[in-house]
Amino acid sequence: MSENDAKPSLNFIEQLIEDDIKNNKLQRPVHTRFPPEPNGYPHIGHAKSIVLNFGLAEKYGGTCNLRFDDTNPEKESIEYVEAIKKDVEWLGYTWDGDALYASDYFGQLYEWAKKLIADSKAYVDDTPVEQIREERGTPTQPGKESSRRNRPTEESLELLEEMRQGKHPDGAMVLRAKIDMASPNMHMRDPVLYRIRHVEHHRTGKDWCIYPTYDFAHGQSDSIEGITHSLCTLEFEVHRPLYDWLIEQLGIFPSKQTEFARLNLGYTVVSKRKLLQLVEGNYVNGWDDPRMPTLSGIRRRGYTPDAIKNFVHKVGVARRDSLTDVALLEYSVREDLNKKANRVMGVLDPIKLTITNYPSDKEEMLSAINNPEDELAGKRELPFSNEIFIERGDFMEDPPRKFFRLGPEREVRLKYAYIIKCVDYKKDDNGNITEIFCTYDPNSKSGQDTSGKKVKGTLSWVSAKHATSVEVRLYDRLFITENMNEVEDDFLKHLNPDSLQILDDVKVEPSLSDAEPGDQFQFERQGYFIVDPDSAADKKVFNRTVTLRDNWAKK
Ligand code: ATP
Ligand code: MG
Repeated sequence: MSENDAKPSLNFIEQLIEDDIKNNKLQRPVHTRFPPEPNGYPHIGHAKSIVLNFGLAEKYGGTCNLRFDDTNPEKESIEYVEAIKKDVEWLGYTWDGDALYASDYFGQLYEWAKKLIADSKAYVDDTPVEQIREERGTPTQPGKESSRRNRPTEESLELLEEMRQGKHPDGAMVLRAKIDMASPNMHMRDPVLYRIRHVEHHRTGKDWCIYPTYDFAHGQSDSIEGITHSLCTLEFEVHRPLYDWLIEQLGIFPSKQTEFARLNLGYTVVSKRKLLQLVEGNYVNGWDDPRMPTLSGIRRRGYTPDAIKNFVHKVGVARRDSLTDVALLEYSVREDLNKKANRVMGVLDPIKLTITNYPSDKEEMLSAINNPEDELAGKRELPFSNEIFIERGDFMEDPPRKFFRLGPEREVRLKYAYIIKCVDYKKDDNGNITEIFCTYDPNSKSGQDTSGKKVKGTLSWVSAKHATSVEVRLYDRLFITENMNEVEDDFLKHLNPDSLQILDDVKVEPSLSDAEPGDQFQFERQGYFIVDPDSAADKKVFNRTVTLRDNWAKK
């Protein structure tokens, strides 16, 4: 984008769509689809595909379908279907009409299989599986034609019908397209279109014991739905000739496939298979564990739909695989929550501080601003008294000159309150500081300060007798290795053993007693936090979404 250019430049898919529209190639509005396989919970990589497909439909006045690619009954379930619907809706998108399923088209696909046989474009192959594999050849060596390749049409039709009626066991035979065993593209060497699986399907029950392969189902489903732009990740590029071949042989609506790079995120795995392993092996507490890169996990962690959409836009759409820095995702959520989250006082690692010249029976209410980024958020009252908690790390016995917080004889401001000066502190037998004593300057009250004092540091605090104790869960990266795609040994060996830290006595201001699961806050100077559904009436649980700054960069 040039500096004078007000309009952001188009990504290559937008360019393609605009060219198609300009050249009158579509004859109908842009129609995309998001085609998840319901074999796991959606992850941040799927968010890219969702934002891309639904976003393009929105941008070009078209529609986007939600279509479940449910052709592998062993691994699929209704639980996953529901999770996917929920996540798409959470991101703020509405699919066109009802949710659709490749299994809705099993009948039509079967008819098309028969047509391909009748046109001598497919055949039933009952060569043993091992031999079929050998005959496929290798990327550098052509394959060998099956001895069943030229069996009479009638015979193939009959065998297909027998397959369908359950007369043959799993693996006994397959339906193959008749294309080219010498093709340099392995996917064109008489690929399998149907296989026998005596398994119940979560939607079609026992109706079928043969199921179409991805290749035979996907393009045909696109075509049935009139999808104009079928967007998928780069690994499907080698499938495209087959996608086009099938549509051409069947003479059906010419959907067009375009590939883009997957999203890969540092210190994360984005593979449902691996995420399932983490869940089943109890390495995490379920699909929605806030450390998981699933949308349900990061939602529980406190990531917002806007943050995720902005993140996906910043990542952009390209044709080369890369690894995205998690810092970009964290930046996106900070940017969003900075505008939306109210500020509160919370002390993660509390130490008691007594103000010796403040009357012990006195309490006063101080006025605090809820969100300096949002005037409409208003103000609240914060109770102050002679005993408060501050962060342990905000006091040093022998601080360096540039430590602008508290130390012996040093002065700091308590946010929204007074300037205090440290006059003494107590230690236990192990040398740990157990209490700090300060005096305060009554003339230094925030907003009406006549003390003439200038201090460099401002501390957050909570009044001890008014504070509520809560549990806080701090999360760190789930893996210790940045590029998990390059890991060659067991990926589980790269798990970060310290990805979860639980603080069970965090002190927060009393206004948080009313907070409900899902409510989000900035704890001043600490980071963004969300109330977790695990909260009980007498003990709230907060998840830290993200720190205020990038702590990891320092490590
Ligand atoms: P996984 O490898 O996690 O199992 P998948 O590709 O098998 O992913 P699908 O349910 O088939 O999962 O994916 C639905 C859509 O999302 C597909 O169009 C797929 O290309 C896209 N998609 C999956 N992973 C990513 C990713 N990391 N980045 C972008 N798009 C993705
Ligand atoms: Mg898949």
